[in-house]
Amino acid sequence: MPEQCLFCRMVRGEIPATLVAENAGAIAIRDINPQAPVHVLVIPRTHVESLNALADGAVLGAMGVLARDVAMAEGMADRGWRAVMNTGSDGGQTVLHLHMHVMGGRSMHWPPG
Ligand code: 5GP
Ligand code: ZN
Repeated sequence: MPEQCLFCRMVRGEIPATLVAENAGAIAIRDINPQAPVHVLVIPRTHVESLNALADGAVLGAMGVLARDVAMAEGMADRGWRAVMNTGSDGGQTVLHLHMHVMGGRSMHWPPG
């Protein structure tokens, strides 16, 4: 768990974040710069830089289950929602700790650009 990693520090409670939900493998917090009425980040407790560095598929499993829980709790499961994982610079990743954007509450566009 790198000392200075922003999301590791949130997992450790060193930096404040609005916790929405959590499970054994991941936490869910509100994005500081929401791009949709619901914009939650699902962050694994363990430090993995990106999908490129994913070694343990169970990490993604814990994230997926928590994303589902968030979608249901936010009341958007029936209408639909979007999960996004940006990887590397071309993918638009700015925080180098794996995370899933859980977005909804409005109709999402495709392609995302
Ligand atoms: P990425 O661009 O890496 O896919 O997503 C990083 C996300 O983290 C962005 O949506 C950005 O708004 C969010 N973010 C960056 N810094 C903070 C912060 O300090 N707190 C919270 N809650 N979100 C942050
Ligand atoms: Zn980290």
